[in-house]
Amino acid sequence: MNHEDLLRRFRVEPGSRFRLADHDPSWIGEDEFGELGHDELKERAKAILARNVEALSKAQELLWADDTRALLIVLQGMDTAGKDGLIKHLLTGVNPQGCDVVSFKQPSAEELDHAFLWRCMKRTPERGRIAIFNRSHYEDVLVVRVRPELLRAAKLPDGLREETFWSRRYEDLNAFERHLDSNGTLVLKFFLNISRDEQRKRLLSRLDDPRKQWKFSAADLAERGRWDAYQDAYERAITATSTPWAPWNIVPADHKWVARAVVSAVVARAIAALGLREPRLDEAAIGRLDEARKALESERPR
Ligand code: AMP
Ligand code: MG
Repeated sequence: MNHEDLLRRFRVEPGSRFRLADHDPSWIGEDEFGELGHDELKERAKAILARNVEALSKAQELLWADDTRALLIVLQGMDTAGKDGLIKHLLTGVNPQGCDVVSFKQPSAEELDHAFLWRCMKRTPERGRIAIFNRSHYEDVLVVRVRPELLRAAKLPDGLREETFWSRRYEDLNAFERHLDSNGTLVLKFFLNISRDEQRKRLLSRLDDPRKQWKFSAADLAERGRWDAYQDAYERAITATSTPWAPWNIVPADHKWVARAVVSAVVARAIAALGLREPRLDEAAIGRLDEARKALESERPR
């Protein structure tokens, strides 16, 4: 299977119905990797990550130099899906000056007093920059859909909160991303797909390892109790919002190194497809460089 086909298998085709059952969270490769042992696969995934991280770091310089495009990476996933670790690995080697990581938590009172996209719009990347949303505008059709009391806290005008309410929100999300896309921001969306069993293991390891205990939050257990409702909310949201301008990628995330390799490959491929180059100077500008060179060369030492 070639690279393009491989990447396509993670993408949710716009207009198709997304079913979690069609995506194996513990996927570790196609048949051609079958003869490799687990450790070899892991090494291979790490090598892919390293190569793509380097590509990302070069691409960032070009984004900066080109200054017409921006990149927005959206990460969603259940607790412990590996969003933080992925960000850490993906950004090694990226110049911190050109990148923002934004973690979306429960909205503040001020944020709740605005339309739900307000806080996200404010944090979208400037031209030339990369932003990573660790959780995102999608929380408003995920956690907020799963827990109706959060919607009440948003103090919206009265009205039905049925299917049409949520389809309006999906339309808003699509329009928002369409707006970003037409204004030069490439939007790449990833759902880190872990299995319920793997989440159980990761939560247990937080409890057992004194160095990880600080990461455990009792709220994670409550959210885990709503697992099926979340899966349903994800299926609906992803089906409705995988668009030609911002398709979703479903990332097998039970193995962290697979997830990191996959995301890095999709990001590197997408940036390469932008075909960015360093800006070329016109003749007048080159003439000014010559003048500057002459001026510097003819300076007398002081
Ligand atoms: P964490 O990512 O583990 O730091 O947790 C952040 C928490 O904030 C998660 O439980 C999210 O579901 C929650 N959160 C993020 N965005 C929203 C939102 N728009 N409304 C309600 N809760 C949210
Ligand atoms: Mg958490």
